[in-house]
Amino acid sequence: MKKGILVVVSGFSGSGKGTIMKRLMSKYGKNYSLSVSATTRAPRPGEVHGVDYFYLSTDEFESMIQNDQLIEYAKYVKNYYGTPKAYVEEQLNAGKNVILEIEMQGAIKVKKKYPETILLFVTAPSAEEVKKRLIGRNTESMDVIDARMQRAYEESFGLDDYDYLVINDELDECVECVNDIIMSERAQDTAKNESHRVSANIDFINNIRKELLSYSKGV
Ligand code: 5GP
Repeated sequence: MKKGILVVVSGFSGSGKGTIMKRLMSKYGKNYSLSVSATTRAPRPGEVHGVDYFYLSTDEFESMIQNDQLIEYAKYVKNYYGTPKAYVEEQLNAGKNVILEIEMQGAIKVKKKYPETILLFVTAPSAEEVKKRLIGRNTESMDVIDARMQRAYEESFGLDDYDYLVINDELDECVECVNDIIMSERAQDTAKNESHRVSANIDFINNIRKELLSYSKGV
């Protein structure tokens, strides 16, 4: 059987990627397996162990690191996040396309281990919108929001390592676009997605980087 493809979806905190993933899975779930990460951060209201994340203590997480049970892990704003290995390998071998919704340091490690991985980055249309969505979510303190804005600015320098950039302006369009990109990669027929290549969006990236800088300074 043909192995599935591995896709990493990253995005600035507040880009709406969690919502995109939920909609993608409810609409096109038969195409994908979504990996569930392990984390040491506390669950947000409504989040479920084993569905959103496996919520672990620091000791439990560190023992997974020691036993080589993670494909990658990273520290993000004071907590550990990592991708359990067993599920991903089993699903790829079963021909499924596996999606990892992870941050940038992890994405780069995955690409090193599995060079065929497609790296896709999702962003809100502007830095103002990133901040608005973070505040609107009402789940983080202002300190954490500021740290996440700062992190978004730093991440804007890592976009060159990604293959595709998708701007999340209208949710349904964005979901269609993500599905199209992954399905065309699987079929090895990517011509229609050229406008979503990172290399075709350099002006947008330079612009949002400037905006993120002023927002991360507390504007
Ligand atoms: P949140 O706390 O908002 O759920 O996630 C914070 C960041 O960690 C997001 O950018 C999310 O994509 C990332 N993340 C979630 N799971 C993993 C993982 O397994 N590995 C890595 N490296 N990052 C992850």
